[in-house]
Amino acid sequence: MVEENDFDVVVVGAGFAGLYALHKFRDDLHMNVRVFETGDGVGGTWFWNRYPGARCDSESYYYCYSFSPELAQEWEWSGRYPEQPEIERYLNHVTDRFDLRRDIQLSTRVTAATFDDATNRWTVRTDRGDAVTARFLVTAVGCLSAPSVPDIPGLDDFAGDVYFTATWPREPVDLTGKRVGLIGTGSSGIQATPPIAAQAAQLTVFQRTPNFSLPARHRAFLSEDQAEIKADYDEIFDLTRQSFAGFPFHPVDRKTMSVPEEEREEILDGLWEEGGFKFLYGGFIDLLRDAEANEIASEYIRTKIRETVKDPETAELLCPKGYPYGAKRPPIDTDYYETFNRDNVSLVDINDDPIEVITPTGLRTTTAEYEFDVLVFATGFDAMTGSLLRMDIRGTDGIPLSEAWSDGPRTYLGLQVAGFPNLFTITGPGSPSVLMNMPVAIEQHVDWIAGCLEYLRDEGWTRIEATEDAQDAWAEHVTELGEASLYVRANSWYVGANIPGKPRVIMPYTGGQPMYRERCDAVRDAGYDGFALGGAAAGG
Ligand code: NAP
Repeated sequence: MVEENDFDVVVVGAGFAGLYALHKFRDDLHMNVRVFETGDGVGGTWFWNRYPGARCDSESYYYCYSFSPELAQEWEWSGRYPEQPEIERYLNHVTDRFDLRRDIQLSTRVTAATFDDATNRWTVRTDRGDAVTARFLVTAVGCLSAPSVPDIPGLDDFAGDVYFTATWPREPVDLTGKRVGLIGTGSSGIQATPPIAAQAAQLTVFQRTPNFSLPARHRAFLSEDQAEIKADYDEIFDLTRQSFAGFPFHPVDRKTMSVPEEEREEILDGLWEEGGFKFLYGGFIDLLRDAEANEIASEYIRTKIRETVKDPETAELLCPKGYPYGAKRPPIDTDYYETFNRDNVSLVDINDDPIEVITPTGLRTTTAEYEFDVLVFATGFDAMTGSLLRMDIRGTDGIPLSEAWSDGPRTYLGLQVAGFPNLFTITGPGSPSVLMNMPVAIEQHVDWIAGCLEYLRDEGWTRIEATEDAQDAWAEHVTELGEASLYVRANSWYVGANIPGKPRVIMPYTGGQPMYRERCDAVRDAGYDGFALGGAAAGG
């Protein structure tokens, strides 16, 4: 339990977002900050997701903080796509380097937060019995941190071991000689498949929807790579702040159809060989807007799958159809498709033949029965809203956030919710967040919030709240952009389709970073246009 119980800011979560928020608010604004974190270590996503094969699918040298040039110069990434332990080490290094640990209370879940209209302060409660107050509540809970456990009957009856990728144990899991069933083929399942297959006696992958996965082309950095990156860091970080999705790729304005077929193939070949997200963001500008352009990229990937997977039936099952490439978050892999050429790996299509029940010895689909020693669930998250709604957050008049968002999340700029004064949501729904390189999105939000808190302090305001009008207009803008994009054409977690009963709403802002940043800056420059400022420093 904390001894002190009143803070300027309470931050929820100690991942990429919470750590930077603490540093910024405490060390730049000299505020009194407390961070609560559920895990018994820092790192957020990179603390929890320790499944075999877990590695970042954005490249290390730009999937990191840019706020400290010294940090960027001193940290050495081992290669293009670091594995989870290396990112966890990086975040622990940042924690110690900036002396953050002393203000972080680990192993503590925030269970409730209630706004008091009379004092303009939040009361925050935890599962360890803390009840603290704070002027501002800043959520840094991550967009993909509330695991989704599918409601398949019989799960508790399974006699073998059950693992979830999102809460994989810290101690090593030995799958040698085991028969493993893996359910889910999103980024986590796709990353976990090759290393599990390499260890297990037999791996059966249960696929509901095939994914368009791109090769990562991971490689270790040589010392020349390190030197080059460090020499170019200013430009790299500038590019990440200017580009559409926060990647340091030079902007392209080339449309797919404007390029002759042969040249187009050459460009796609080059992108495929280079690996990673450049295929989506670095080749053609229209892949997420123009269905015809998208189909060309989609078919290119299908051809690669067919060339890689030797058994034509398995290859066909692995080929995504019926939704555009990129409309579901595309995974980046190392040897995923190649793994299906192994004798000990098989693929089961549970779209046509769904899992009906987990049995004590395995599982049963409509037509077949399977026996396993281990079941692995890579079934995803209640994305973007889940971790916010799993806390009981109540705004003015005691209105719960779950009620305010009963038809889907509504925010102003993804930063605030009308009716919830002094609450800021880092990478909240309605902001580009998950469609961006996350550390870039996080830094932009934390910097914006810090600027806002400083302004309020300087001007003597103690309360800030998005107006209903501004929120309505923003929500409409987010929906309009989303509807005009290809994102709405897939059943993805971007639209809440993976959670039964969740309202179908396009949650991230699809207009890209430049437009979003410009809007946030304009709001700030106009004295926080669309926000009602109130309270008075003296009045509490
Ligand atoms: P996900 O993309 O939501 O994938 C979940 C998988 O489980 C899907 O294949 C889904 O099928 C399947 N599934 C869900 N419920 C099911 C059920 N009841 N029965 C059968 N299958 C079911 O989750 P994820 O793989 O954990 O990835 C989530 C996000 O985390 C990613 O999109 C990415 O943004 C992030 N991530 C990033 C990295 C990285 O390297 N940086 C790594 C892992 C994850 P349907 O598709 O049919 O719903």
